[in-house]
Amino acid sequence: MSDIIQLLPDHVANQIAAGEVVQRPASVVKELLENSIDAGATHISLIVKEAGKTLIQVVDNGKGMSTTDARLSFERHATSKIRSAADLFALSTKGFRGEALASIAAIAHVEQKTKQENQDLGTHIKIEGSEVILQEPCTTPKGTTIWVKNLFFNVPARRNFLKSNAVELRHIIDEFHRVAMVHCNIHFEFYSNGNEVLNLPATNTRQRLVHIFGGKTNEKLVPVSEETELVTISGFVGKPDFVKKTRGEQFFFVNDRFIKSPYLHHAITSAFEGLLKEKSYPSYYLYLSVDPKSIDINIHPTKTEVKFDNEQALYAILRATVKHSLGQFNITPVLDFQRDASMDLPYEQVKKTISVPKVEVDRNFNPFDTNFEKAVPSFKDPKESKPQKSSGTTFVSNFKAKKTDDWEALYSGLNDKNDIAILPERKASKLEFESSVNSVPMFDKASAEANKTQTVYQLQRKYLVTTIKSGLVVVHQNRAHQRVLYEEFRKQISLSNAVSQQLLFPLELTFSSIEIALLKSLETHLIDAGFNFNAFTNESVSIQGIPTVVTESEVSIILEQLIADMEQELPDTGFSQIDVMAKSLAKSAAVKTGVVLENEAQKHMVNQLFACEEPSRAPNGKTTFITLGVDELDKKF
Ligand code: ADP
Ligand code: MG
Repeated sequence: MSDIIQLLPDHVANQIAAGEVVQRPASVVKELLENSIDAGATHISLIVKEAGKTLIQVVDNGKGMSTTDARLSFERHATSKIRSAADLFALSTKGFRGEALASIAAIAHVEQKTKQENQDLGTHIKIEGSEVILQEPCTTPKGTTIWVKNLFFNVPARRNFLKSNAVELRHIIDEFHRVAMVHCNIHFEFYSNGNEVLNLPATNTRQRLVHIFGGKTNEKLVPVSEETELVTISGFVGKPDFVKKTRGEQFFFVNDRFIKSPYLHHAITSAFEGLLKEKSYPSYYLYLSVDPKSIDINIHPTKTEVKFDNEQALYAILRATVKHSLGQFNITPVLDFQRDASMDLPYEQVKKTISVPKVEVDRNFNPFDTNFEKAVPSFKDPKESKPQKSSGTTFVSNFKAKKTDDWEALYSGLNDKNDIAILPERKASKLEFESSVNSVPMFDKASAEANKTQTVYQLQRKYLVTTIKSGLVVVHQNRAHQRVLYEEFRKQISLSNAVSQQLLFPLELTFSSIEIALLKSLETHLIDAGFNFNAFTNESVSIQGIPTVVTESEVSIILEQLIADMEQELPDTGFSQIDVMAKSLAKSAAVKTGVVLENEAQKHMVNQLFACEEPSRAPNGKTTFITLGVDELDKKF
């Protein structure tokens, strides 16, 4: 048998390596920024076009390279940062593998100009697909500029795999933040498609965080600081009353590298225990420094996991430190002018002893009495009957009545020509399908009559139960409302005909500059959905009008959620921007499980659901209602 093993040519090996190092434009950004930092730059500019797909340019004022080094830097395993394996345990640089530039040059058109301080002329190199196509002296300022164009030009599978510009840009911004958050003494600039996205002058950590995450950040930061033999911790956690509704600003850095650690994350959330409302996320920006020997440094360049020798001790220290900081912050009395007065006891109640509310039960009540509705005592927990500030949802007030009452009547009059005009054909066919086991039409004239006094019950603050002739209908209140609102928002946005409620005082909300940019790009759609904006600044938005189905207290959460959804879920194709938006708004504004609905609201909800085009599914595809036929009930008896 002849030998079959061959050494791979360099450009092939580089391309394979590139597959691991460069997954998307953001990976290139990370590598180039880190190289500039390693080169001692004090000013770094990042310039991208089309989310880095056509251009990623990094300009630094670092130490530059000699002509030989400039050429060598693109070779695989060419690095100035380590000389022996032992160096791995005392690393002070970001890179050390000598793989990044070689990998990038294998899958893009790369150009580099670099000059050292004491040289007159610099070096200009052009490489395409690992092949050097130009090398010449040039004039250029001290430092290095690198252009990476047409990423994945020779790997179509990779190029096609890239997400939309919005998503890829988000990844770049994330990487940029992670680097900029650590190196506060470096001036960073970031331009996308010719527009300045961020300009971060050299400063301290606190100011850097404020510059990145917006003006309001300053007042929400609680400093964290601890020094032990095992670890030094510094940074900030967000005050519990500034929690985010969407997971967002949670950062761990270990020895100046961003890492993800579900284990340490748990230490933080447990330190916040009892201080957070359900489904809210604390912000944290924590910088840990440990002995490099105590962590596994040989981690993959693109991975953000890290292995600690002493994970359990680290957990305990971190948890105690954060708890301590939060405690200190709490002891300090704060004058809180924004305290919600409705949470205070009324003055005359303060000194009174509080008695358990009595529940009166009408023992003569007979559920089989046909007039029973009149006889039913109002049986509500006194606490629940008031609009609850904390849940932010006063359902009755914002659930606008529509002319869709008597939905059973819609279905019942299929023979009636007038009604057919109201009811689209396919609704009728769906109805037949759903009741196909039943020879009796689901709703007849009689039940339509009965519908006038139709009774809906709320079960476990989650389901709405009502009857139809053939049995029971059980509606999932949250999903049903999502469906109703989704169709409404979608219609309004595409027809631009939303009605908005004007606010007495404009609502000022602060966001980071990137979030503001995203909101601005959605401005026309948001206006169509019922929002009215007074002004946008770099960090805030002033809102004068909001959709009628939304309450003022929900607006900030709704917009926060919208930003998160638009960033995460906007796919290249398939769903339109309007659709993603309508889904997000509906999800945030819909009545939640656990909310008590007044009887009128229950009826409206059921009526509105069945007036929808697709009543059976929530926008996320889940079932909104089920029916339980009398025949099925019969089987159970
Ligand atoms: P690594 O960073 O792991 O050493 P890279 O492929 O990223 O590997 O870079 C190879 C070498 O090129 C670096 O070790 C460094 O000497 C040099 N280099 C890369 N970028 C720059 C830069 N912006 N300024 C100065 N030197 C650089
Ligand atoms: Mg590097």
